Amino acid sequence: MDTRDRMEEVGKNIDKHGADHQDGKALLDDYITREEIWACTSCNACTEACPINIDPLAIIVDLRRYAVMEESIAPGSINAMLGNVENNGAPWKYSPADRLNWAQES
Ligand code: SF4
Repeated sequence: MDTRDRMEEVGKNIDKHGADHQDGKALLDDYITREEIWACTSCNACTEACPINIDPLAIIVDLRRYAVMEESIAPGSINAMLGNVENNGAPWKYSPADRLNWAQES
């Protein structure tokens, strides 16, 4: 619904001022908060339930992707997980060489 509100506003601005008009607002932060995009569990229930095939999860995932890849802004727990994936090839903080240590524990 926030996306719809923003699209309606952008449409009105284009009608009034032309296609190049910038109003200085953005969907993320001015309409949808960062807390909202990270609160979603990606369960896809909203997409499954929508009677006219709107996919709200795609919007949420794209906003997350923008926040992480363009702004490098994400919650601390996600930054830690991404760092582990980058350094260890897995979301955990352990070295790949230690991955099978659990099998040797008695
Ligand atoms: S996928 Fe849709 S229904 Fe599921 S938590 Fe996210 S916004 Fe809510």
